[in-house]
Amino acid sequence: MQSLMENPSVKVNKITYTCSNGQSVTVPLPKIDPSLPTTGMVCRRVVFDSMLLDAARERVEVMDWCAMRQVLTEDGRACGVNAEMGGKREFSFTAKAVVGADGAMSQVARQTGFPKYPQYRSVAARAYYRLVTGTVGSLEIYFLNEILPGYLWLYPTESGMTNVGLSIPLEGVKRKKLCPREALNQALRLPLLSDRFELSKRMGRIDVAMLPVGNTMRRIHGPGVALVGDAAGVVNPCSSEGIFGALLSGRLAAETLAKACQDRTSPDETLMKTYPERLWRELGPTLRLSDRLLELRSPKAIDSLIRSAKRRPHNAGWISGILIGSALPSDELSSFLGYLDFFRR
Ligand SMILES: Cc1cc2nc3c(=O)[nH]c(=O)nc-3n(C[C@H](O)[C@H](O)[C@H](O)COP(=O)(O)OP(=O)(O)OC[C@H]3O[C@@H](n4cnc5c(N)ncnc54)[C@H](O)[C@@H]3O)c2cc1C
Repeated sequence: MQSLMENPSVKVNKITYTCSNGQSVTVPLPKIDPSLPTTGMVCRRVVFDSMLLDAARERVEVMDWCAMRQVLTEDGRACGVNAEMGGKREFSFTAKAVVGADGAMSQVARQTGFPKYPQYRSVAARAYYRLVTGTVGSLEIYFLNEILPGYLWLYPTESGMTNVGLSIPLEGVKRKKLCPREALNQALRLPLLSDRFELSKRMGRIDVAMLPVGNTMRRIHGPGVALVGDAAGVVNPCSSEGIFGALLSGRLAAETLAKACQDRTSPDETLMKTYPERLWRELGPTLRLSDRLLELRSPKAIDSLIRSAKRRPHNAGWISGILIGSALPSDELSSFLGYLDFFRR
């Protein structure tokens, strides 16, 4: 499998948090793997997805332009799918189990009767811009009052374009009556950002999509069926990152089902339920803590966290974790009380 390093990407080594009053702090990114030449890198989805697909092709047969139309069931258990190739030919595939890896609007989930969990959703809007100034080597996060508890990001890419977007919990979108595309356009016109976008040009349209936010009460398996990635709703509520959860859930579901295939049996409930058990054990603490960290997304708390990180650079790493809710829980953050204590000090 190719490594990310061999693909087009841009190195980043710090992250800057800014709030509406202009207060900001820059925090170095921690080096997770000492053998890598960089602490962080930004890779466009088109590059990353094609790398993943190439890796999958080494092990499985990939059928391009093939759409799943109908989940086949026998005695209430999923046992295959009907699919359409190139919009014309129809095929049936039988299988010991069906994995729904078909995103936030999963047909597999819908057809096999999984609940929709509409209260666990965020909305994201994103576009690529040329000629944004001052975006070298740093990830940028803006906590703008207009979109709180959401945030806006600016990520440099190797193509010279900047990935600019925002993500807002659906409840916030409804309460503030926001239109995500318009909210993004308006944010870029704010004095905090407008200078940097003066010469910029948007490449293509602003994409808007729903993000299914993770909660450990979700049902993600059924008779002969497992959901992974956005179909399973494993997006981090605070950071809106879904790729980590998608990769983790995909691996755990594959390991679970590989066991049944080795034994040449259909996976029974005892085996299938080990998949959510393992997933929520690994991802659950982060999801729960991130959910609570969203409560700190008020203008006052954000401002206070950014000021604290500036005053105490030795604490900036874990304050960064609190602000973005990513890569949790660390030792310091594993207890929710940890950061409440911090405010009391
Ligand atoms: C604007 C935006 C920005 C984001 N930024 C980040 C980020 O910076 N970092 C991060 O970690 N996450 C980010 N996310 C979240 C991340 O994109 C998702 O969590 C992730 O893509 C989930 O992967 P997935 O494979 O489960 O679903 P998807 O990436 O949606 O893939 C599902 C696939 O299934 C296919 N499919 C659907 N229906 C069928 C069918 N009937 N038959 C055959 N195929 C089908 C689709 O074509 C698609 O290829 C962002 C999301 C958005 C919307």
